[in-house]
Amino acid sequence: MTLAEGAGGAQAGERGAYGAGRSSAQRRAVASAVAGFDCAFTAEDLAAQVRLVSPRISTATVYRSIAAMALSGYLTPVGDRDGAALYAHCDEIGHHHHVVCTGCGATAHAPCPIDTAGLTAAAPDGFVVTSHEVRLYGLCASCNDRERVADGCSCDTVADGTSERG
Ligand SMILES: [Zn+2]
Ligand SMILES: [Zn+2]
Ligand SMILES: [Zn+2]
Repeated sequence: MTLAEGAGGAQAGERGAYGAGRSSAQRRAVASAVAGFDCAFTAEDLAAQVRLVSPRISTATVYRSIAAMALSGYLTPVGDRDGAALYAHCDEIGHHHHVVCTGCGATAHAPCPIDTAGLTAAAPDGFVVTSHEVRLYGLCASCNDRERVADGCSCDTVADGTSERG
């Protein structure tokens, strides 16, 4: 017979090994919060999410992390909501674009629909187009379904309690 002896007792180390541990731990908290989103988010959404884990993280740190992650390609701007920039986690390498659901904020990768040679042909004389940005908006499959159902079926209508008073 086996005796389960203090499983996992020995692996508490790691933490505090680095001098600059705190800020890199905060950056890691931000990065893992980003990876946890499967839809587009604003800086405020992200800060709120990170604070569940690191309550004392400053908004400035969240913004700095966003800037750094945008540079590295870990997240990418995908538009805006009520004037606030929206970001999405991106773990795909290589040139591609993102489609954002305007119904629920879900995001997905999309292959590049642009023909760069065509862009240069369309540009004024002397211009050579070297890069582009494309943001695609639409409805995801489930929002699309929901809309179709809402159009056709009224079984879900809320009772409109018309009360009679004497
Ligand atoms: Zn991507
Ligand atoms: Zn949707
Ligand atoms: Zn492209």
